[in-house]
Amino acid sequence: MRVLLVEDEARLAETIVRGLALERFVVSVAATGPEGIERALHEDFDVIILDIMLPGASGYQVLRAIRTRDVRTPVLMLTAKDGDHEVADALDLGADDYLSKPFSFVVLTARLRALLRRRTPQQQTILQAGDLALDPARRTVYRGDVEIGLTPREFGLLEYLMSRKEIVVTKAEILHNVWDAHYDGPENVVEVYVGYLRRKIDVPFGRSSIETRRGVGYVLSESG
Ligand code: CA
Repeated sequence: MRVLLVEDEARLAETIVRGLALERFVVSVAATGPEGIERALHEDFDVIILDIMLPGASGYQVLRAIRTRDVRTPVLMLTAKDGDHEVADALDLGADDYLSKPFSFVVLTARLRALLRRRTPQQQTILQAGDLALDPARRTVYRGDVEIGLTPREFGLLEYLMSRKEIVVTKAEILHNVWDAHYDGPENVVEVYVGYLRRKIDVPFGRSSIETRRGVGYVLSESG
């Protein structure tokens, strides 16, 4: 699950990134309003956490800019304590929910999950490939009856492959969608993570659902 966090307070951003990683969310941080707009318009996120006081453009301006350009990604606004006006303004502009600072992690993750559940009916959110099932809202993966524990990045990779099952995806597409559009590290990180995934979802079960298409990329197949 990919989250865009638009927050200029570095320490708070870091705490949120770390906390959400434990809940298997992959979080990208934008530290200014314009960067938030840019990334929300050009990358795919499942949910956006948006602060109000930001350099360059306020959270309201960010929200207005992305909603006018038809980005419907659910937005959770971070408001000040007792900020009734802020809450009203945020909801008027098309925010889906809000949370006042300071907040607890338990509440933040519960709100994010609720937003994700609201987005699409529960039935549609569960991805299936043969006896492999991934539930993006509950953050769970099962092979038959066996639950498989994945890191946030492994989970994101599997979610991407399953959402395009039987379709060959290139390493560049994987990097763009599972890492982020600005990732400029080595491409073989994809091979490494495909290896990690195979050792968790395939090898222990004597399966080979993730196939390598040499020189092209990977395909997750139902029958593998
Ligand atoms: Ca701020």
